[in-house]
Amino acid sequence: MNLEYIFLTDYVSETPFHKSHSELKSFLNKIEKQNKRLVNLEVIGKSPEGREIYCLELGNRYSENKILLVSNAHGEEVNGCEEILHIIKLLTENPDFKKTFLENYQFVVVPTVNPDAREYNLRWAKNMDLSKFFLDYKRTITDKNNLKIDLEWSYPFRDDTNIKRPELAAMIELMDSQKFDMFIDIHGAIGTYKSGFWYMIDETKGKKDKLVNFLYNLGKSSGLPLNAFDMGPLCPRLKPGVYGLLTAKRILKELPHAEDYLEQKGGVSSMDYFMRKNPEGQIICCELPTFYHEKYLDNTVSDKKELDIKKTLINHYIHLWKEKIIPLTEKALQIEPHPKLKAFREGIDKKEIVFLRDRLLELKEEEPYKKAEVGEVNCSEMSKYWLAPGYGQGGYVSDLFGEGLAGVISELPLESRIKLAEIYKICSTESKKAAKNALAFGLKKFALAESINIQGKACLGSILAYFTD
Ligand SMILES: [Zn+2]
Repeated sequence: MNLEYIFLTDYVSETPFHKSHSELKSFLNKIEKQNKRLVNLEVIGKSPEGREIYCLELGNRYSENKILLVSNAHGEEVNGCEEILHIIKLLTENPDFKKTFLENYQFVVVPTVNPDAREYNLRWAKNMDLSKFFLDYKRTITDKNNLKIDLEWSYPFRDDTNIKRPELAAMIELMDSQKFDMFIDIHGAIGTYKSGFWYMIDETKGKKDKLVNFLYNLGKSSGLPLNAFDMGPLCPRLKPGVYGLLTAKRILKELPHAEDYLEQKGGVSSMDYFMRKNPEGQIICCELPTFYHEKYLDNTVSDKKELDIKKTLINHYIHLWKEKIIPLTEKALQIEPHPKLKAFREGIDKKEIVFLRDRLLELKEEEPYKKAEVGEVNCSEMSKYWLAPGYGQGGYVSDLFGEGLAGVISELPLESRIKLAEIYKICSTESKKAAKNALAFGLKKFALAESINIQGKACLGSILAYFTD
């Protein structure tokens, strides 16, 4: 099998999507049972709410090419797990894939690092129920010690750092237990393309051009908006949609006080940790939005009903910005931004904020928004508060259903979430229906089949590109 074969063939999975934790368990057990010689299923840890963290070993255990495949560290990015299940099915059921991959490689697969948050997010993701979205959107859960940390960005900064969560302890033990040649980390922003579509690779390792070209061509031929997102000034853009890694080293080089910030925030990413333990290993990080609708490619809102729902959300978005995000960010940063970062924000300001600003100006003229505080808010002011590299790069002005709002929601106490859900309910039934239809359509069109298909190709194609000549 060659790269072209992977590239040109579509494999649409018939796996039912959005499995609950118990369904995931039976799926993995069945895979193990049916592939006794090739598959070994283990529980490598338990989440704070007692759910198993599964690890599946597939393929040739004597192979010198070991691949670590992980997803769903961010609980709300539920589709990463479905993408991995699709890949597992492909590898165990399709004779061509079985021969090419399971004979020559060993895969160590963690379908979900974050089974707790995944379970909550499924409540809205399964049927795109936006009122549940406001209640159950969770990047991670708060454990009984009141600890809520980003499970992608809290790997130990130094070796003497205490590991505070069992999910991380399990991943660290796994990464320490053997040497890997490649690490594929699957993410999947919620929202539209504005939440970001991109791949990151370690451009200092071999086969750089082959990997970059493959990922770029895959994105291009799949119709992904390659130029719609910018990783920011710290990551070199290798091709549209393909970047160098956002590493702690890079952040520390560019941002003078980032060390304190990283430590305060929790630590470094799984990729940084992997790199430390496997200095020769290649890393691919995939980000593909969970849902998408072509309407969002167009900044002019023609549908009156859709505009209604956006207006309500914009209003509350602004309140949240003023009351929550800005003070939080000021506190977290308390530093003058690096000139590069500053220049980048100003560039983004012009390109991306136009949409939001225009909507706000429009709202000013209309009831019942006339009295809202939109007039007081200066959008370019908002853009100054870019949280930090590695967190919410596109967030501050991403789509209203995207990570921008969602990122804020995850910081809110339950009462505020309930309020938001109520606000959502008072939108007219028609608006709700329109928004739901648009999103459901997007989900069906993109996430359920296409994103799984594209991500499967990206992972398996990157393996072939990297390991074969
Ligand atoms: Zn993520």
